[in-house]
Amino acid sequence: MLNPYAQHQVDSPHRIVIVGGGAAGLELATRLGNGVGKRRRAEVILIDRFPTHFWKPLLHEVASGQIDASSHQIDYASHAKWNHFRFEQGALSSIDRERREIVIDETTDSDGRPLLPRRTLAFDTLVLALGSVTNFFSIPGAEQHALTLETVEQAETFRRRLLSSLLRSGHAGAVKTPVSVTVIGGGATGVELAAALRGTAEMVRDYHLASLDPASDIRIRLLEGAPRVLPALPERISLRAQDVLAGLGVEVRLGCRVKSVDADAVSTADGETLASDITIWAAGVEGPAVLRRLEGLPLNRLGQVIVDGSLQIGADSGVYAMGDCAACPAAKGDALVPPRAQAAFQQAVYLADALARRLDGRAVPMFAYRDQGTLISFGRAGAAGALMSELLRRPLFIDGWFAATCYRHLYRRHIMGLTGIKRAVMYAASQWLRERVRPTVKVN
Ligand SMILES: Cc1cc2nc3c(=O)[nH]c(=O)nc-3n(C[C@H](O)[C@H](O)[C@H](O)COP(=O)(O)OP(=O)(O)OC[C@H]3O[C@@H](n4cnc5c(N)ncnc54)[C@H](O)[C@@H]3O)c2cc1C
Repeated sequence: MLNPYAQHQVDSPHRIVIVGGGAAGLELATRLGNGVGKRRRAEVILIDRFPTHFWKPLLHEVASGQIDASSHQIDYASHAKWNHFRFEQGALSSIDRERREIVIDETTDSDGRPLLPRRTLAFDTLVLALGSVTNFFSIPGAEQHALTLETVEQAETFRRRLLSSLLRSGHAGAVKTPVSVTVIGGGATGVELAAALRGTAEMVRDYHLASLDPASDIRIRLLEGAPRVLPALPERISLRAQDVLAGLGVEVRLGCRVKSVDADAVSTADGETLASDITIWAAGVEGPAVLRRLEGLPLNRLGQVIVDGSLQIGADSGVYAMGDCAACPAAKGDALVPPRAQAAFQQAVYLADALARRLDGRAVPMFAYRDQGTLISFGRAGAAGALMSELLRRPLFIDGWFAATCYRHLYRRHIMGLTGIKRAVMYAASQWLRERVRPTVKVN
């Protein structure tokens, strides 16, 4: 196989193609653009199926109507222009590693009319940063009947369905039955969404859209198969989350295995059928389906690309994977780097430096993941979590407004990393102003 970095000596400039402009891909494209791209050391191209970027950890706030997604989206084309890389919209269809080419599907507009044709793009270095998709674990009916929270569109679908159900219920007269929402999966996404929903009902009532009693006219259930919510986090955070959810009137069922999902009910392994107007599946992730169709990519059981400590699929292959779509060894033991925004960020920072070093023929260290802790938002009920650092010998548990401030800071840090301090301040100011002139819950 050709050494892609040696080839750079002959045909300049070296072309780095990044597929997926999420937490990992957009951070990498921005850093490379402002480094090797600006110095014309390499041509940097970012591909994404959508025209705008949205930070996924905010999706539960879109779903509960607390934020308007449009004021948090970053337009790839303008961001690329300001940061010295090129953007092309389209979905990855195939990779030819021998010819060092990828094929991008035809792009269509929102009415399904063709915008850009199916096309081939050559690369010297390829970085896959495609994220993850919902894992339904082959549970009958789950994919057909449950909603998911992977994209802004899906979060908006949930919000609209919740709002319609609340309005219908609020105008049902004497025979009113509560709207039942079932959240399947007590990980971070499920807990954060369940905690935010009571606040949504309160806000709908406050705008006099429907005569609702937010405490009794919406029934929120959270089903988790493990003996506690947030099973991957320290027990102290789980117990705090369970307390907060109980205080918000969320019915949490632990050790509850879902057997099947129907349009209006969820059946559990112990024979119960729970009525459910809206069911949301938040029980796990796996690699995107397109990866299973690509020939010659090493995949693990969850369909993630297996990479080594340099994030490559083989030494000097010049093909990398990072973020949720990669199965990357963590520093210690057999554990893998978890599918989290902080891991995606650290891998992007690492790869921006590693690729620049390779272009200069300098030595490249291996990637080492550092767990900096986890924060869970409970909406208006604050946040809780644990911070980790090399200075602290054990996790530092935080709660209340301080945890909520740290949680907000994660998003601000993401925006600041992408846009720089000046633009990040302007973004924050414009979002603050828009929040002052829009309803506290998105109602249309
Ligand atoms: C509701 C929710 C809440 C979360 N909360 C937290 C949290 O609080 N803390 C935390 O650390 N993590 C959280 N996460 C996880 C975190 O969002 C992910 O770990 C992180 O976004 C992974 O980054 P990524 O770049 O790998 O993937 P993504 O950010 O998902 O980006 C993938 C990109 O690839 C693009 N793409 C996909 N397929 C194709 C294709 N075929 N062709 C072209 N482009 C494609 C997508 O459009 C997307 O832009 C949350 C996730 C969700 C869904």
